[in-house]
Amino acid sequence: MKVKTILTGIFVILLVTVTGCSTGNTDTCYVPKPYDLDIMYDEDQPQPPVVTPGTASTQDRTGKAPSDAIILFDGRDLSQWLDSDGNPAKWKVENGYMEVVTGTGQIHTKQNFGSCQLHIDWATPAEVSGEGQGRGNSGVFLMNQYEVQVLDSYNNKTYPPGMAASVYSQSPPLVNASRAPGEWQTYDIIFRRPIFKGGKIAKPAIVTVFHNGILVQDHFEIMGTTAFKEVPKYEAHPDRMPISLQDHRNPTRFRNIWIRELSDME
Ligand code: MG
Repeated sequence: MKVKTILTGIFVILLVTVTGCSTGNTDTCYVPKPYDLDIMYDEDQPQPPVVTPGTASTQDRTGKAPSDAIILFDGRDLSQWLDSDGNPAKWKVENGYMEVVTGTGQIHTKQNFGSCQLHIDWATPAEVSGEGQGRGNSGVFLMNQYEVQVLDSYNNKTYPPGMAASVYSQSPPLVNASRAPGEWQTYDIIFRRPIFKGGKIAKPAIVTVFHNGILVQDHFEIMGTTAFKEVPKYEAHPDRMPISLQDHRNPTRFRNIWIRELSDME
């Protein structure tokens, strides 16, 4: 056992003692779970059960967004998107969708957003190549910080907090609601931005996600900026930041992207 794990264990025991909470009394007592890198990246952890999504959640791309939504992509052009240098986005647009042009980097919205409801359709390549994290990988980054993973998770084993609809390296989806490669899938994301006070985190971000109409993240408290093989932590950032889409060197497609801004809750 690592020293860090032992120290975390001692800390939790102390916290339990100080707060008067006993293990098994989790109804009245909140003790944060220690973050374990070994578990997070272990593909032999139990996989979320597979659920075949219904068909009602499949949105036709000609369908209209809600009247108060800001349209971020209507299938025609990337006028709402920039590359990481602030230049016009270089991804391909055809047949009503945008597609990652690998090597051109992530793209982000011109506009900044905080708390929001975000809808996005996505599809991983119909022709399967690669495996694990190398298959249809992209991602939706809220506030340019917090990734809801996009991956081909249809019969494709990986560590559960890295599969489609995970909060990457933090929270596996409740179930695997993935459609087959090449098929259009949907995310409906409800995101509450983090609140910083005096440069420190005062209230973590919270995210709820529906994948193909199925609840996969239920009011999850985000642990910090998405990181790879590091314990996530918060770093103070502005109240509003762009939404970004990841170039992970797989030609993943997106369409029908709209957002509704939400006012912050007290
Ligand atoms: Mg990704």
